[in-house]
Amino acid sequence: MKQNLNLLKNIRTVEPYVPGEQPQTKVIKLNTNENPYPPAPGVERALQEIDADRLRLYPDPVAKILVKALAQDHGVREDQIFVGVGSDDVLSMCFLTFFNSKKPILFPDITYSFYKVWAELYRIPYECPKLQDDFHMTKEDYYKENGGIIFPNPNAPTAIYEELDFVEDIIKHNPDVVVIVDEAYIDFAGKSAETLIEKYDNLIVVQTFSKSRSMAGMRIGYAISNPVLIQYLNDVKYSFNSYTMNQASLVCGVEAVKDRAYFEKITARIVETREWAKVELKNLGFEITDSKANFIFAMHPEYDAGELFEAMKENHIYVRHWNSERIAQYLRITIGTKEEMKVLFSFLNGYLKR
Ligand code: PMP
Repeated sequence: MKQNLNLLKNIRTVEPYVPGEQPQTKVIKLNTNENPYPPAPGVERALQEIDADRLRLYPDPVAKILVKALAQDHGVREDQIFVGVGSDDVLSMCFLTFFNSKKPILFPDITYSFYKVWAELYRIPYECPKLQDDFHMTKEDYYKENGGIIFPNPNAPTAIYEELDFVEDIIKHNPDVVVIVDEAYIDFAGKSAETLIEKYDNLIVVQTFSKSRSMAGMRIGYAISNPVLIQYLNDVKYSFNSYTMNQASLVCGVEAVKDRAYFEKITARIVETREWAKVELKNLGFEITDSKANFIFAMHPEYDAGELFEAMKENHIYVRHWNSERIAQYLRITIGTKEEMKVLFSFLNGYLKR
């Protein structure tokens, strides 16, 4: 059919985000930063107990039980929590709600690639200050006039964590715009910016159940902030879709939050495997950033990352590689179980010795 260019002009076109592959065959899957351990045992029990008849009804639009559990867990009030379908949903709502200026929003040139997609989708102008050669942010880059700020801490895919006083400086220098700290990986890192919420009225902290809670498939994310900003988020949410959280995510989410001991156990195990994997990769000649996430960002000075990526894939080991400037020689490797990592190292040992 012949393309009608006038028709095209009236369509909101966008270059979409490209998620990592979800192969449907059994592979060593180290490509999308999922948790290699199952969710807390209570989650499985809750799933089995779901009454199918309850699904006739719409879920609670305010997601009361989940919001309450999260508020208790974080020591904040219920009107300081906003929940969504994964942190992607929460972040997208934040872009729509808080980034409404003609001035550009700021986020690093190397970061979660969804930020650019939302900015384009919602027609938000943006600028991307360059990370330093060691992939750390330069805080002064975020002191200029802007329409809002977002960055992940730890950053992805670099895995680098900026200390809390660094994050606080950025928040403090931007009192007139909203600063969003995307803490998808914070539980594997250091102090969360949530401790600054009482002090700064422009701060939103976003976290997820997808990584440290082992529930990427359930899709739960949330924002913590002051009641004023949370109310604005809710106003936009109710203008979009009232019933974001399905019944299963509500009950399973609560069970996951309740089991702090299990959460701490598996998070510590992943951190331990990560530290061991860093040493192994260095011994194999890789150069890596000081990862504080559940993945490692690695490059080998003698081997092309694209070729290595393909070779791993042929051997059923999936990691992530981007053909983009500055990071084309890097691989992002999710921390799996120790057994999975051993398979990776044994493959690399053979491949690099050829
Ligand atoms: N932020 C960052 C930095 C991420 O890497 C991811 C995972 N792709 C997300 C947010 C979204 O995670 P989810 O929607 O599963 O909560």
